[in-house]
Amino acid sequence: MKAENQEIHLPPLKKAKVSLWIKREDLLHPQISGNKYRKLKYNILEAQKKRVKRLLTFGGAFSNHIAATAYAGKLYGLSTVGVIRGEELASSWRENPTLMQAYENGMEFKFVSRQQFRLKNEPEFIEKLKSEFGAFYLLPEGGTNPLAIKGCEEIISDADRDYDYICVAVGTGGTISGMSNAAFSHQKVLGFPALKGNFLQEDICKFAPRENWKLIENYHFGGYAKVDENLVNFINDFKKETEIPLDPIYTGKMMYGILDMVNKGFFRENSRILAVHTGGLQGIKGMNENLKKKNLPLLCV
Ligand SMILES: *Cc1c(COP(=O)(O)O)cnc(C)c1O
Repeated sequence: MKAENQEIHLPPLKKAKVSLWIKREDLLHPQISGNKYRKLKYNILEAQKKRVKRLLTFGGAFSNHIAATAYAGKLYGLSTVGVIRGEELASSWRENPTLMQAYENGMEFKFVSRQQFRLKNEPEFIEKLKSEFGAFYLLPEGGTNPLAIKGCEEIISDADRDYDYICVAVGTGGTISGMSNAAFSHQKVLGFPALKGNFLQEDICKFAPRENWKLIENYHFGGYAKVDENLVNFINDFKKETEIPLDPIYTGKMMYGILDMVNKGFFRENSRILAVHTGGLQGIKGMNENLKKKNLPLLCV
């Protein structure tokens, strides 16, 4: 089922004479929402075709990709292994809502140090994992590979032809690559990285050869999963005014960026902007536990 794009009505948009619409990919599926569903789709078909019975992948403690893989495994009868960054979690993972949910969906964990985690693309490390877990279908961290990008290309359809800009949050760059491939020739794709660092540009170029995309790098709020009071308040206000929930790691930062750019006059009059809601709402619970510890305001649920 596919929901129609929804128009956002907020005073800054009216003032700048632009229109902003949101594509509710977060409503695709209650458990595997947004782009993680898109990224898994063709990979699961491939695993089934190869008759592999187990998926193995990598992720951090609050990863939407880990959550989605665990659920998809359960749904399609594949066992799942999550190689998780942070060996300290071996004793405390039951307090982590993302991991607990993944466990309940049947995922088996292997907790590794940050150092070891960096070996995630090394053939020797993968071989070691094969001797430990047997044959598996490997999904890279964040699920980004050519089949994932093919799935993300399906986010944009003919009905989206009338937009001038397509905005999307960026993690590993798989989703923006799919959007770049699928965009119409007059459209510009703006990516909002959720993390710091300039390695992304290069990664994306590998998968997105067109020159229709651009990264807007000043809305990462200090780095991956970093948030401040300003962002939390923005997400809560946005929900109050539009009834649309945003996640604090990706879509909240993107939307903050879009509206800030609208205020600063980045978009010319009459621009039609489409923002993709890539999901990620499962991460709110875990983030609220961190915010509580830091005495910061909580995200409304
Ligand atoms: C993973 C994720 C992204 C980033 O997707 P990439 O393909 O890794 O760039 C954006 N938004 C949400 C909600 C995500 O979970």
